[in-house]
Amino acid sequence: MPASMMIGLWLFISTPVPRPMSPPIEGLTIGQLLDTFHQPRGSAQHEAIDIMAPRGTPVHAVVDGTIAKLFLSKPGGNTIYLFDRQTAFCYYYAHLDRYAAGLHEGMQVSHGDIVAYVGSTGNASPNAPHLHFTIFELGPEKHWWQGTPVNPYPVLFDLLSAGRH
Ligand SMILES: [Zn+2]
Repeated sequence: MPASMMIGLWLFISTPVPRPMSPPIEGLTIGQLLDTFHQPRGSAQHEAIDIMAPRGTPVHAVVDGTIAKLFLSKPGGNTIYLFDRQTAFCYYYAHLDRYAAGLHEGMQVSHGDIVAYVGSTGNASPNAPHLHFTIFELGPEKHWWQGTPVNPYPVLFDLLSAGRH
């Protein structure tokens, strides 16, 4: 086998894939998904998708894991960083109206748990509440602020078309 093929095979085996078990908002359908991951936003790429939804729509933990960080960011407003149990991936939620009662850092959650509600905090238009959602592959240090962005569009498309919801 040529060396390049062996390297390809090794990458295939070793690259983890995010596997959310629940959609990030209640009642999400494939028709609501729009791939804006590569869209330019200012001088950078969006590196996330925006899911338009009425203010107050319940936001769900997509995997079993840990609330790694609750952070108030100027652009993102109220945000959540959710680590999966393997600390392979971090799931990021922004523009949240508010957190679910009692939500706190270090808390263990199960997929499908309500963790927050859709809103327009941060730099989102008050007339267009939405969930800004993305996935990061965590580095070896497992820092909530460091990771490689992964496009959530195909991941959520697969989840919804698998008919698990
Ligand atoms: Zn966004």
